[in-house]
Amino acid sequence: MCGVLGVCGRENAVYDLYQGLIALQHRGQDSAGIVTYDEMFHLKKGNGLVSVVFSEKNVARLVGTCGIGHVRYPTIGAGSDEDAQPFYVNVPFGIAMAHNGNVTNYYSLRKDLAARAFRQLNSYSDVEAILNVFADEVARQDITHFNPELVFKAVQGVFDRVEGSFSCVALIAGQGMVALRDPFGIKPLIMGRKKDGKGAEGGGEYSYAFASESVAFDLLEYEVMRDVRPGEAIFVDAQQQVHTRQLTQKTQRACIFEWVYFARPDSVIDGIGVYDARRRLGERLAPDCRAAGIEPDVVVAVPETGRAAGVALAKALDVDLLEGLIKNRYIARTFIMGRQEDRKLSVRQKLNPVRSVIQGRKVLLVDDSIVRGTTSREIVSLVRNAGAKEVYFAVTSPPLRYPCVYGIDMMTRGEFIARDHSIAQITETIGADRVVYQSYEGLITAVQGEQAERKFCTACFNGDYPTPVSEETFRALERERCRWRE
Ligand code: AMP
Repeated sequence: MCGVLGVCGRENAVYDLYQGLIALQHRGQDSAGIVTYDEMFHLKKGNGLVSVVFSEKNVARLVGTCGIGHVRYPTIGAGSDEDAQPFYVNVPFGIAMAHNGNVTNYYSLRKDLAARAFRQLNSYSDVEAILNVFADEVARQDITHFNPELVFKAVQGVFDRVEGSFSCVALIAGQGMVALRDPFGIKPLIMGRKKDGKGAEGGGEYSYAFASESVAFDLLEYEVMRDVRPGEAIFVDAQQQVHTRQLTQKTQRACIFEWVYFARPDSVIDGIGVYDARRRLGERLAPDCRAAGIEPDVVVAVPETGRAAGVALAKALDVDLLEGLIKNRYIARTFIMGRQEDRKLSVRQKLNPVRSVIQGRKVLLVDDSIVRGTTSREIVSLVRNAGAKEVYFAVTSPPLRYPCVYGIDMMTRGEFIARDHSIAQITETIGADRVVYQSYEGLITAVQGEQAERKFCTACFNGDYPTPVSEETFRALERERCRWRE
């Protein structure tokens, strides 16, 4: 997962981009970057948090009324400096792009771009491949007569050639900004506007922005317009006129893990509030906990993602929810730190129990997911060592069994504990007295809320991938992943 942001028609767009990226920081801590445009591109990117990569001095250098920004969570690519986004190409016009997602036919695109378009990619970041496909599709047309039609044709070319998940924002020098979302709308992308656009001369009354999550707009005080639709392209021209085109018609399959774990709880994605979805997930676990004979004295949510669910589950069970685990707010997400042995230490660094809440009590822990079971085992042991009489573990999602090929950091088949362990074995492995998982139906209906017709990408739970994924793609992802972890 990554976070993307685009701003056009705004004086000193960099300030909105910088602030917006801070609101999206949870979507990636690996690298950050911003490119702006006035008469040329101004780019600053590097490894680390937004606050590390940008100083007051280099923000001041990024002049212009439009720009795009990115925070990176490593997917394809070894996490080197070269892989930080945004990327740009000089021809045609000069095009810069950032994306959130994962391209599943990356290696064949790379080969194809070299062989047929004589385009050399200079990194292992998949956005560079999408950008070059887009640039290639633009260049094939009569660019002396630039117009929105030409942009839509080029995006159609991207949809035809690129497989996987991709929500992209691109800046075409002197022409405008393009936002596009893959035909299944797997990754989120939302559009907003703000009155008082002070962009190019003769500009419209609004400035526009695109962001991975609505929280960026809350902070920047942009009015949320709507989500970009799956298979849609939106082009905001240099005069801030908006042109839209629905290029494909597929049933949306947004990644359900956004609501389970990834997105900020204060975001609304595709019309479904993340916090509300997490509450419903918690509420739905109550009957299953009762059926499993769980009678806790206290419910303790694992911070942060387990919180909303914990509140709702405690209420439904009529048990107190207390903060029995305190998170050190200065430690970044542990999963992202890499190797297995680091993880044990990082749980201890991140979470500490409150003895008075736990001692002598039957504690029901609530967390969003179990992947490998490493973190969960550490948490259970923390709580037991703090004097709990019994430790139950409720998980707001079903067992994770299949790798994500669309950008969530769980890409190797070997890493799922539920792949070859029964629930009884998982219970034993993580050292809990009982484990209760959400049912698959429970997951879907809880996230759907009132939108009962909605479909999701649930590939990590049931192996149902919206796009074709070859065995070679799985193997390539696993190779990349293992190499990176070494
Ligand atoms: P584990 O017990 O090692 O399987 O880790 C489970 C924990 O990892 C849960 O607390 C989740 O919130 C968290 N988690 C799940 N998926 C991811 C992910 N893709 N990246 C980082 N953390 C994750």
